Amino acid sequence: MNYNSFLNRDYKSLLDTPDPVQHPGFGSIHVLILIVAIGVISSILIFMSADASANKNSNQQANLTALETTLKENVQITLPLSVPQLPEHEQVFDKTGDIPARENTSSEDGNAHWLTVKVKSGEALAHIFKRHHLKPRELHDIMRLGKTTASLKKVRPGDIFKFKIDEQGQLQTLVYQLSPLKSLHIQRQQDGFVAAMQTRNIETRTSYAIGQINSSLFEAGKDAGLSDTLIMKMVNIFGWDIDFALDIRKGDQFAIIYEEQFLDGKKINDGAILAAEFINQGRSYRALRFTDANNHSDYYTPEGLSMRKAFLRTPVDFRRISSRFGKRHHPVLNKMRLHKGVDYAAKPGTPIKASGDGKIIFRGRKGGYGRTVIIQHGGRYSTLYAHMSRFKKGMVAGKRVRQGQIIGYVGQSGRATGPHLHYEFRVNGVHRNPLTIRLPNAAPIKKQYKDNFARTASALLAQLDMHKQAQLAMYQ
Ligand SMILES: [Zn+2]
Repeated sequence: MNYNSFLNRDYKSLLDTPDPVQHPGFGSIHVLILIVAIGVISSILIFMSADASANKNSNQQANLTALETTLKENVQITLPLSVPQLPEHEQVFDKTGDIPARENTSSEDGNAHWLTVKVKSGEALAHIFKRHHLKPRELHDIMRLGKTTASLKKVRPGDIFKFKIDEQGQLQTLVYQLSPLKSLHIQRQQDGFVAAMQTRNIETRTSYAIGQINSSLFEAGKDAGLSDTLIMKMVNIFGWDIDFALDIRKGDQFAIIYEEQFLDGKKINDGAILAAEFINQGRSYRALRFTDANNHSDYYTPEGLSMRKAFLRTPVDFRRISSRFGKRHHPVLNKMRLHKGVDYAAKPGTPIKASGDGKIIFRGRKGGYGRTVIIQHGGRYSTLYAHMSRFKKGMVAGKRVRQGQIIGYVGQSGRATGPHLHYEFRVNGVHRNPLTIRLPNAAPIKKQYKDNFARTASALLAQLDMHKQAQLAMYQ
């Protein structure tokens, strides 16, 4: 099942058409597959939201078409944070060159002119000064300004510099865009150059949306003014309880309170969902976001229980299950053996995720298992991931990991007939079938946050209820 079919199928056809993907026998697979798409999709949509001003509908249509093409062609793309429109000489350029930086262009500004330069591979600032006949002396003076200008020593290919050069060929201003929000400005004063870092602040506002499903979730989301990114965020929050590919019905309703990010008064991005309710087939699910003192956010029910399970059902986006848990004929050893895990066939290099929060207790080669990672999750549970092609950098023994964090990549190291992930799930040291075991819920709100959570929750729930009243009035 791909993202696009999920997007366009209505609830009826979902009931009529069996999903072509092999079902390993649990619903949450859909959501897991969707999660893959989300990474790509949200980058695309975040990027595209930059120009989502004039005609929202046609823009969304364009977004979806682009998305469809992207997914069809299976292109791996990296997109920058969206950037607002700025006056020409202040325009922010991305580092990947997706927004065409007009290289080496100049524009008049009084008696001076602006020169925009994109750093080429292997180039240092000194090369750029030389290439554009700027005085080495000026660069020398700038580098002497100290800590503020240290970033100039390690420029990267694709970085954008802007120079304001006066009639005498003297450098008046240098602007180095470090990120969409941060830039270094160097200005000529009477007694030399002065450097200053400029940071622009993102303003966060709270918004809400309500909707009712008539044809599809994405249609309803669009009608409610939600971006696809936000809809996917909502799908992620409720995805542990609701199978969004199969369970959605006409008449299902949702209400969400979410953040929007503004830069210079213009919306640039959707932020987090703060509270959400989804009524699926008459049953209401509510989720509230809470951020703890370590700045870690998660979603909880109004009672403070986690919306998540403690473990992902599947730690990899796989093509098929190539071997199940239990007795089987071992293809390499050519005899009957107990298969202590599940094998997921997947493309070499497919990311493998930690199935739950925990601590890496082993990382290395382990006989027939090849490159292996073992994670301990509290006192009772541990998970094992084998046959990796390589480990994720920094994922070493002793390292704490969060659910969904990448720990390594699919391969066929050790004794394996093809690229796959061999995944084991142990409870109190005993191997259990990861496909069928009842997964425990993730930890509820911690004791020390209970009062704080109760306050946040009641405020958010009051808001949700208020919007729900409006919703009821609207659909009566
Ligand atoms: Zn196996």
